[in-house]
Amino acid sequence: MTDPARSPPVVAIVVPCFNEQEVLTETCRRLEALLSGLVLDGAAHADSRVWLVDDGSKDSTWALIQDVACRPGALFRGLKLSRNRGHQIALLAGLMTARGDVTISIDADLQDDLDVMPRMLAAFEAGHDIVYAVRSSRQTDTFFKRATATAYYRLLERLGVEIVFNHADYRLMSRRAIEALREYPESNVFLRGIVPQLGYPSTTVEFVRHERFAGESKYPLRKMLALAWQGVTSFSAAPLRAITALGVGVSVISLALGGWALWVRLFSPDAVPGWASIVIPLFLISGVQLLSLGIIGEYLAKIFLETKRRPLYFIERLTPPQPGVAEAQAPGAAAQPSAFDAP
Ligand code: UDP
Ligand code: MG
Repeated sequence: MTDPARSPPVVAIVVPCFNEQEVLTETCRRLEALLSGLVLDGAAHADSRVWLVDDGSKDSTWALIQDVACRPGALFRGLKLSRNRGHQIALLAGLMTARGDVTISIDADLQDDLDVMPRMLAAFEAGHDIVYAVRSSRQTDTFFKRATATAYYRLLERLGVEIVFNHADYRLMSRRAIEALREYPESNVFLRGIVPQLGYPSTTVEFVRHERFAGESKYPLRKMLALAWQGVTSFSAAPLRAITALGVGVSVISLALGGWALWVRLFSPDAVPGWASIVIPLFLISGVQLLSLGIIGEYLAKIFLETKRRPLYFIERLTPPQPGVAEAQAPGAAAQPSAFDAP
């Protein structure tokens, strides 16, 4: 437990929410109970808050957030992005805006087990800047999701991307880890890849992931594939290198075929070379070329987006409103410290 001589850390729990009206009330109820318990136990400072980030929801998510955040003595803070920017950017917006000695990010759907938070805080007290909550099993996943997730982690490992196995975005980060994260200016955000690169002392705690409490997954296959592709291309140049290797291999084969065709032409009585020997390499090479161009184009697109230095998000509203604090932040909000401090 915490050293009685030291004041406990101010904890900021960051929750990205996109169309979560079915679960939010229950999530808030449980988070409130958890946080009050942590404060009572002396594991968290009384200034600890839950930061709910509305990622441009179309349902009544923001109304619910305002409702809980405006209650007197509320433990909640609301943050409304000007539009839907996706889970990773919503989470980043919350992490950059929330104020605390430690930040814990968690999904809104109660799939992540809240009861491991005290263990995460204990690991922080023991000197770890980053605590990854990892799933001990994937029993609640469909076979398809389990198989693809495992294959994906293996692929990233092979490509040399540092990533924590079976860890999503349920993690604790110390204030200095958050400050380090602020230094990453990239537009292609894949937090699971960036955080291990910060390099501060880290550890993992295990938990069993539940079914979604209510509502549907906001991560359809399309978004999942986009995130997976982001993970590969933002952290690894291996596909580019693989193209080079492929190019070399195909060139060698083409050269051999060329030599063979020449040999037929010069020394064989069948002076007309076979149709196949022309057409097969032609197909092969154009296929490889198209693939190569596609992948190079993908990296080029990333460079294009990064060079634009576009702001990642705008904060439309902060709840409860603070006198003298502009609600909309200037472009580049992600790179700036928050204008909103916890009381
Ligand atoms: N989310 C978000 N913006 C999006 C999609 C999702 O903020 O565009 C949030 C969502 O509200 C949830 C978390 O990201 O808190 C994870 O989404 P979800 O639970 O739907 O993903 P899954 O667990 O199915 O992978
Ligand atoms: Mg979920």
